[in-house]
Amino acid sequence: MGEAIERLKTYLYRPIDLMHAGAVLGWDQQVNMPEQGVQARSQQLATLSAMGHEIITSEEAGWLLEAAEAEAEGLDYDSDAASLVRAARRGYDRYTKLPVELVVRATQVSSQAFVAWREAREKNDYAIFQPLLQETVDINLEKAEHLGYEAHPYDALLDQFEPDMKTADVERLFTDLKTGLVPLLQEIAESDPLDDSFFSAQDYDIDRQWEFTMLLLRDIGYDFKRGRQDKAAHPFTTNFSVNDVRVTTRLYPRRPQSAIFSSVHEGGHALYEQGIPQEFDRTALAGGATLGVHESQSRMWENQVGRSMAFWQYYYPIFRAFFPDALGDVTLEQFHRGINKVQPDFIRVEADEVTYNLHIFVRFELEKALMTGKLKVADIPDAWNARYEEYLGITPPDDAQGCLQDIHWSHGMIGYFPTYTLGNLMSAQLYAQAREDLPGLEAGFTRGEFRPLLDWLREKVHSYGSKFTAPELLQRSLGQEMRAQPLLDYMREKYTALYNL
Ligand code: ZN
Repeated sequence: MGEAIERLKTYLYRPIDLMHAGAVLGWDQQVNMPEQGVQARSQQLATLSAMGHEIITSEEAGWLLEAAEAEAEGLDYDSDAASLVRAARRGYDRYTKLPVELVVRATQVSSQAFVAWREAREKNDYAIFQPLLQETVDINLEKAEHLGYEAHPYDALLDQFEPDMKTADVERLFTDLKTGLVPLLQEIAESDPLDDSFFSAQDYDIDRQWEFTMLLLRDIGYDFKRGRQDKAAHPFTTNFSVNDVRVTTRLYPRRPQSAIFSSVHEGGHALYEQGIPQEFDRTALAGGATLGVHESQSRMWENQVGRSMAFWQYYYPIFRAFFPDALGDVTLEQFHRGINKVQPDFIRVEADEVTYNLHIFVRFELEKALMTGKLKVADIPDAWNARYEEYLGITPPDDAQGCLQDIHWSHGMIGYFPTYTLGNLMSAQLYAQAREDLPGLEAGFTRGEFRPLLDWLREKVHSYGSKFTAPELLQRSLGQEMRAQPLLDYMREKYTALYNL
């Protein structure tokens, strides 16, 4: 790495440290903080964010970046040095395009919005959240104007989470997916339903559930010397370094599958973060490529691995030994069918693989409409419910199970939801290739062996850190563009067997 690039890298240590310190406070807010701590916390987060912003957007940062760009000219696009300069430029542009005042206001509003959202959801009262959601939408509209876009204001917001992807690309992929999903869901709906009543028939001890999730995390390769698991209302993964990557899960006595798949999902995110090369730590190259790529990792561990027959051939005897009373009469086949039951329901995070993306289509369409003014914040509950009726054939009984269920808007994030489905698409593309490259992959799962898959992901995805956008990464690791067909093929094969289609 040349001298100018090295200087840029060193300069960015301080804002990156500040960002990670803010992440510690954010983790604490969701895991430990008492209710009354919120105001002080929002001020602290705003201060840290303003300090980071000041350093990143300073004149000095601008000079360092220009000098580094001059030095990077002619370097291989894929090299660490050139990629670091590109990542720094993306961050710099994003920040310098936004006035400090807007960034500070956004942080303050999102901290208050989170508390209002939580109360609104508890009391099932959209009116509590509505004014703060209005402010959030207004701030995002302002952001879009500052960030700039060509075709659609939503492009600017999407670009924050999934660079290189445009609203039109997402529309095309989602249309392809919808075209295949609708008939599949129709055939499933006409088949005999699968039974998962053994989950809700009795309580599954919370402490034993916790123990089982810890075992799963350890087995799939999550390093507890560089991480920990806690409980949170809305499970998430966060990291303050490649050597401190934390996950959360949630425990319900009559939904043990919720804790299992939350932990494996967040574990997938965490394996990615823990797999970023040490030399990228504390630099712009750490942190995973994009949200969609991140989600491809979590969803692969959750679905392609965690809901497979091979996985449970190994784990079911262990799990049943944890809960002999509840599962004594339940066979492996029954259990496997139970965890893969397709059932249109209201809650996205509890949704099965087939209906999951329909939940995303709803949010994507509403967010787009909010950004063009076609939808008013006051009308969100009605618009939400109408689309659930259209796509899933069900109407949420209340807003807590409808438009108040997700945390994202309360954090100020609009443009984020599509990354979940993009992640699902990529998980299927990557997994299909892993199966081809690693004969005996699934036979290994039946013996509790996950290392070959993890090593493959380390090489194909994790080792790149955040060097590439999602389309760039897929080109390099698979030689492919993002496509809906592999996910449709995977689902068709799996659910044909499960439902005798
Ligand atoms: Zn996730």
